[in-house]
Amino acid sequence: MTNKRKTLSSKLEEDNSPRLEEDKIQIENKISIGDDKNYQKKETNSIEGFDDFGFNKSILNSLDKKGYKNPTPIQKESIPELMLGRDLLGQAQTGTGKTAAFALPLIEKLNKNKEINAKVLVMTPTRELATQVAESFKSYSSESDDIKTVAIYGGTDFRSQIISLKKKIDIVVGTPGRIMDHIRQGTFKIDKINCLVLDEADEMLKMGFLEDIEWIIDKLPEDKQMVLFSATMPNEIKIIAKKYLKDPAEIKIKSIKKESQLISQKFINIQRHFKLEALRRILEINNEGVIIFVRTKSLTTSIAEELEIAGHSVAVLNGDIPQNQRENTVDRLRKGFVNILVATDVAARGLDVDRIKLVINYDFPFDAETYTHRIGRTGRAGRTGEAILFVNRREKHFLKNLENSTKNKIDELEIPNNKIINEKRMDKLTNDINSSFKLKERDNDNKALMIDILDTLKVKYSLNEEQIAMAAINLAIGKKPFFTNEDETWIFKQNNFERERSNKNSNNRIRSSNRRSNYQNSGFETFKFNVGKSNRIRVANIISSICLATNINGRTIGKIQIFNDYSLVDLPKNLHTETKQKLKNLKIRN
Ligand code: AMP
Repeated sequence: MTNKRKTLSSKLEEDNSPRLEEDKIQIENKISIGDDKNYQKKETNSIEGFDDFGFNKSILNSLDKKGYKNPTPIQKESIPELMLGRDLLGQAQTGTGKTAAFALPLIEKLNKNKEINAKVLVMTPTRELATQVAESFKSYSSESDDIKTVAIYGGTDFRSQIISLKKKIDIVVGTPGRIMDHIRQGTFKIDKINCLVLDEADEMLKMGFLEDIEWIIDKLPEDKQMVLFSATMPNEIKIIAKKYLKDPAEIKIKSIKKESQLISQKFINIQRHFKLEALRRILEINNEGVIIFVRTKSLTTSIAEELEIAGHSVAVLNGDIPQNQRENTVDRLRKGFVNILVATDVAARGLDVDRIKLVINYDFPFDAETYTHRIGRTGRAGRTGEAILFVNRREKHFLKNLENSTKNKIDELEIPNNKIINEKRMDKLTNDINSSFKLKERDNDNKALMIDILDTLKVKYSLNEEQIAMAAINLAIGKKPFFTNEDETWIFKQNNFERERSNKNSNNRIRSSNRRSNYQNSGFETFKFNVGKSNRIRVANIISSICLATNINGRTIGKIQIFNDYSLVDLPKNLHTETKQKLKNLKIRN
């Protein structure tokens, strides 16, 4: 351990350095260091478009290609400072556009100083973020001549990284551990690094990378520009900033609130055994660009299988899946080949896919930070998004804690019932037919083909236009029943769970009468079975026989009364005729 490292680690405990003014965006116009002193910095409020920064055409073209219209606040604040060559200490969350805020001016600098063979090193806490940041650099420099970026991180082939590092490389993005390994082995030459970026510095510290980071910084050339971005600004970060940054521009973008406000946050009261069914129902309403967070790897695969059976295009992201396959999965999600991702927290860290519109917290997150991270996968860069949290009885008080620590009210959402699902199916089908009609209208080839088919159907099969239209709709509906008529009494029960719970004085009664008393008048029908005490029948025999013979869920069975020669059982109203027939022939204990 170097002395320098020792000093900082011990300083962390006894810090009494002056605090940074957190709420102030403080930018000094003074140029202290930097290699472009001729740069004409505009006042932040006079910056509108990207061309106000003075970028060269190639960068502007790449931004155009990406569809970026205007810079985000963090970009407006940071880019001019970095163009001047200043160090920068930025407090901003992911989703604010912070990657472009440091990547664009650094690419500009590389474009200008090609002959110097300068290099940029970016350190990130995770390999996911490393790939993402490297991808951003590649896309922002896609129109620039000969700017090469490489990502190096653990968990992937060391040799191929050595080969990449041997070539001409301008930007290296990586995780501290792997960067250290390459420096130690002499496979990463760092003498030309003139800019270092620490991205998500607070995360790196949390993950215990402090010593590695300091080890690396100590090895880098002294005269370099340094950028430090962090979502939070704990003392440890302030100490690092104070130790390594030279007269930095300090920028804080208060985005946390605004960002989470763009995400509509809801919770659903749900007992464990109904979660999957509730999930299926939610996905009936919204199934394009969804991430489902679960706690274990095995759950990612079992849920994905269930959803695949239900006809969704699903992929899994968990720690067992090799890195290159994970990247491939994220790419397929980005391109729309996959619509739903079932993921664990670690595997989905830093995931940045614009088309994610819904985040489902299938399992309750471990803490508020995990929750904020999960829901931050949607609502990226000013877009809106939706987040749903499954909450069971025992998790109820955590929900309050979550609301307090995120300073956000999370409202209750009801599980979609059959009516809502059926309306949605109807809407989707009519919309699809309508848009397909409009699309085909423009397509002359298809139009000719369709007219041909119409003629054949009319002449050869003597069908009229209405009959043909009906047959086509029939084809579009497919073989499965169009409207769902599945048992939904349990939904009523879940949605009323809270009301039921708050009825304190009936606490014990609820338990003893259990499924019996509460819904007697609401959604039940009483069935009589000709077996009773004389046949040594017990409640468990009745429930298991019904569940085995029909698709009725045991939890939805109401009151059961066993008399001497017969039993009365409350079952959900409006059962299918087929189910009723099965009940008629039901055998209980033979
Ligand atoms: P970041 O905070 O760097 O993780 O960026 C979040 C998302 O915003 C990424 O998907 C970027 O592609 C996108 N983004 C960054 N800057 C802009 C911009 N000026 N206009 C539109 N999207 C942007």
